[in-house]
Amino acid sequence: MTDKNRLRIAVQKKGRLSNESIKLLKAIGVKLSIRDRLLIAHSTNLPIDLLLVRDDDIPGLVMDGIADLGFIGENELEEKMLERQAAGEPAEYKTLKRLEYGGCRLSIAVPNEFNYQGLESLQNTKIATTYPYLLKRFLNENNINAQPVMLTGSVEVAPRAGIAEAICDLVSTGATLEANGLEEATEIFVSKAVLIQQAKELSQEKQELINTLIPRINGVMQAKE
Ligand code: ATP
Ligand code: ZN
Repeated sequence: MTDKNRLRIAVQKKGRLSNESIKLLKAIGVKLSIRDRLLIAHSTNLPIDLLLVRDDDIPGLVMDGIADLGFIGENELEEKMLERQAAGEPAEYKTLKRLEYGGCRLSIAVPNEFNYQGLESLQNTKIATTYPYLLKRFLNENNINAQPVMLTGSVEVAPRAGIAEAICDLVSTGATLEANGLEEATEIFVSKAVLIQQAKELSQEKQELINTLIPRINGVMQAKE
């Protein structure tokens, strides 16, 4: 059960942003009882509920006002915003805080044997990606006529499978690219985790609670520096 008077925070259930986001909440004094497999977790000391979901769902939950706050990677947030704008759906949110984890970049990569000579080399290629809107924006801005091919997984094997000549995927160390015989051609978006809030005004109680949480996040982040 959820109570609409409790602050609802969307957090990735499992994955690269999950542990750090929950660790941050705990560090600012939000006591949580998280049980496996449940969509909802309650705070035991504050009027806060967590919605534990896939990261892809978090921007939409916040933009639709289902969640009050959300921890999300800027890559996913920006992609969803572009997708929703294209569909004429609500895409508003407020960024409360850029965080210090979840750092990565969205890059175009090509097979080692591609002979990449700069962006022009990408003309008339197919580029496999999970981020077609961010990719399309980059291609348009650079006058490159290439075709994004949407894949939700296994993007890095697309060139070997003959599905695309290049890929556009998230990179942090580059080890996955290297393991798949790919090299980074160009970076198109740099990302970190952010804390966002829904655009609509919240109740005074909820807003006051948020106003006490933000300085605590600042404190935790400063202590780490
Ligand atoms: P979900 O099941 O929640 O959809 P996922 O497979 O889409 O999970 P993860 O791999 O956990 O997602 O990545 C979540 C986010 O972590 C990314 O969108 C990005 O913001 C961030 N991230 C940081 N480093 C990396 C990396 N090396 N590769 C992919 N994502 C990264
Ligand atoms: Zn995801």
